Amino acid sequence: MICERFAPSPTGLLHLGHAYSAMMAWDAACANGGEFLLRIEDTDKARCKREFENEIFTDLSWLGIRWPEPVLRQTRRMPAYQTALDELIALDLCYPCKCSRKDIEAALSAPQEGALYTYGPDGPIYPKICCNRSMTKRSTDDAVRLNMAKAIDYLGGKSTVNTLNYNELGHGKVEIIHLDADSLINACGDIVLARKDIGTSYHLAVVVDDAFQDITHVTRGADIAPATPIHRILQALLGLPTPNYRHHRLIRDENGKRLAKRDDARAIRLYRENGASPQDIRAMVGL
Ligand code: GLU
Repeated sequence: MICERFAPSPTGLLHLGHAYSAMMAWDAACANGGEFLLRIEDTDKARCKREFENEIFTDLSWLGIRWPEPVLRQTRRMPAYQTALDELIALDLCYPCKCSRKDIEAALSAPQEGALYTYGPDGPIYPKICCNRSMTKRSTDDAVRLNMAKAIDYLGGKSTVNTLNYNELGHGKVEIIHLDADSLINACGDIVLARKDIGTSYHLAVVVDDAFQDITHVTRGADIAPATPIHRILQALLGLPTPNYRHHRLIRDENGKRLAKRDDARAIRLYRENGASPQDIRAMVGL
């Protein structure tokens, strides 16, 4: 049986792009007699709000989507993320990092580093300032990073990692995407596994929870596709199963810009209040 999920972060109102993800996942679950789960990704307490969470429930039910209760909330799952982090630390693949975004940008804009200034799924690729620090020296205001090169070695080296793959269903057929160890090192880099403020990161939490909830199909926007190799390597390191991935096209505004949470003009609530029907929303996103 397939199991789909929709995993919003309650940091704003759901817009057409979210509705597209949720309805696509829901439709796939219904068409295959599968399950659809809702997960609230609320680890970033500073940005997540209960009022947005309630709006998400209202919008999704109005769209005709149903899910089993209780909904999984990531803030209830911190011990599971800690266990996964401890596993990676025990494998000696992590280091503590004290760098702020400003420190990283300053290091990268130094003339000799300029050439390395590339962006990955989390922003600028981390220039490994703290990579020789030991986890035994972690202080309370340190984040924890994955040493990507060490992780690749642990899994058997580049050629082995290049055989790891996942199914991409987002382009109408099943494509097998292989990991590319060099691009994990150069285009993702030493990603954060645990932020100092929240004790986990999106990457670690999403991988742990997709496995915990037995998700077989992850349906989400193409903007997250560059992070999927990170998720795949974390699954390999933690011995977790790999779901199928369906990264769908992004819903854009009339200027071709992709919708963001601040695009309240396209919030589902507004359409609802202005008399649109769920069928109208489907038509707007081409479902
Ligand atoms: N929580 C993420 C978001 O709202 C989505 C994560 C995912 O689908 O993997 O953007």
